[in-house]
Amino acid sequence: MSCPKCSLGHQEEFLAEMVVHPHGLKNLDNSGILLFPKLSVCLECGYVQFTVPQNGISAARRYSANCSADDGGSGLTVAVTKSG
Ligand SMILES: [Zn+2]
Repeated sequence: MSCPKCSLGHQEEFLAEMVVHPHGLKNLDNSGILLFPKLSVCLECGYVQFTVPQNGISAARRYSANCSADDGGSGLTVAVTKSG
């Protein structure tokens, strides 16, 4: 598969640990969601894509429903694709 940014085909997969937080100052105290996505990293330009596991998607939905979005943000914004 070629990189969508540089069109070269030098990508490797990695596992990651990350914590995502909802956007906005009202949510600074929010502890966030711990995710373990699989990263696809372009070793030419550094472009990264990742897929959140299904349990992470479910957690993001629950989390987003409880987030405050009255400071100009729109709550948690997570672009996800379903993992196979
Ligand atoms: Zn690239």
